[in-house]
Amino acid sequence: MPFKSLGLHPLLVRATQDLGYKEPTPVQAGAIPPALEGRDVIATAQTGTGKTAGFLLPTLHKLIGAPKAGTRVVVLSPTRELAEQIEEVCRGLAQHTQVRSALIVGGRPMGAQERALRSGTEVIIATPGRLLDHLNRGVANFAKADTLILDEADTMFDMGFLPDVRRIIAKMPARGQTLFFSATMPPVIAKLAHELLKNPATVQIGRRSATAVGITQAAYPVPTHLKTALLRHLLGETEMPSVLIFTRTKHNAKKLARVLTNDGFSVAELHSNRTPAQRTRAMDGFRKGEFQVMVATNIAARGIDVDHITHVISTDVPDVPEDYVHRIGRTGRAGATGDAFILVSREEEDSLARIERQVGQRLPRVTLPEFDYTAAAPPKPPASSEGRGGGGGRGGQSQPKKPKPPGQKPQGRGGPPQGQGPRQGPGGGGKRRGDREQGGRR
Ligand code: AMP
Repeated sequence: MPFKSLGLHPLLVRATQDLGYKEPTPVQAGAIPPALEGRDVIATAQTGTGKTAGFLLPTLHKLIGAPKAGTRVVVLSPTRELAEQIEEVCRGLAQHTQVRSALIVGGRPMGAQERALRSGTEVIIATPGRLLDHLNRGVANFAKADTLILDEADTMFDMGFLPDVRRIIAKMPARGQTLFFSATMPPVIAKLAHELLKNPATVQIGRRSATAVGITQAAYPVPTHLKTALLRHLLGETEMPSVLIFTRTKHNAKKLARVLTNDGFSVAELHSNRTPAQRTRAMDGFRKGEFQVMVATNIAARGIDVDHITHVISTDVPDVPEDYVHRIGRTGRAGATGDAFILVSREEEDSLARIERQVGQRLPRVTLPEFDYTAAAPPKPPASSEGRGGGGGRGGQSQPKKPKPPGQKPQGRGGPPQGQGPRQGPGGGGKRRGDREQGGRR
């Protein structure tokens, strides 16, 4: 089914062609027709499904040729990175039209944002905190804003933004249409949707919390103290042109980034201890391929859309299965393929079992014959202030081989050797320090 048959304005159809979209993705085919009719929409869809164009196309359609009447559309996103991506997609889709959009996020100068808001830019794409700052100072006027788009509503809740979101909505008296997107639908989010939406069309893509098609998953059992060593081994042995590595804590992210940089990888770091400018540089560099590796925590990496990520490696097992689904959704985007590896200590097997129940699949367990799983834990540094969680410690392993840069002979995209039972070494169970990246479910 071509985009044209959805009834979209020809200028938007042209933009989809320019962007290389051949046909609507399922979430687009499901959400665009009712949204064009002016109906509210509730969609359960992860990033990577094409949901951004799913809500932007019908919204832009409505604005083409409409008299300029100040801000008409407010798109709320939980993170700066996601907001930036939405704005980029918006500019791409609106490229043949007169519709203007503006990005209102923290960490950017207020002046340009104030000008955009005061001049009544039609589409405002914002994170809640900064937008509320402007609203409270009387800079923005949303009296005519009739469309609200909530993206990643579940993350919005996780990050504690719902009160801000409600305050912003209260400043939109003309709200006539709401498009509500969430990767998951826990009860608190279903309740919010019930409050905000009138007779919505429902779009549900795939099973709840199913992992995206095209992702090969594998679990690597390994004692906690050998996780970094195994990770370095994997990176050294396998061609991974673009790899996103998750750690539980920002402390571990920082430490791991240092280790991998010393190994000769180009590494970007993304977690909440980085300044907004550093985060932007990390994202831009990773997106452009200047960094082969990005080390990130959960919250910072939510909703990241980098279409060339070939591998996602989790150095810890998330307690909440949906977090795992989010993580691995960073690869295999929009029908591409990718590998998702998770390093699991014996203590984390229960959490992994919960994830497996949720995704309806048992992950193959992989051990590497050439890796020494029996190496002892390294001696504790005296009066250490370092954590020993998932990303920590060199684990007494020898240096890995030089990293394989992109473009070398593929080894089945990291296709792991199969079929051997895990050989657990001694140790494991290192305590985690309390610097876990915040934002866990409340
Ligand atoms: P999203 O889920 O909105 O983050 O989109 C994920 C990726 O899919 C983005 O890189 C989009 O550019 C891409 N995309 C969106 N719609 C389509 C489509 N109809 N065909 C191919 N790619 C698409």
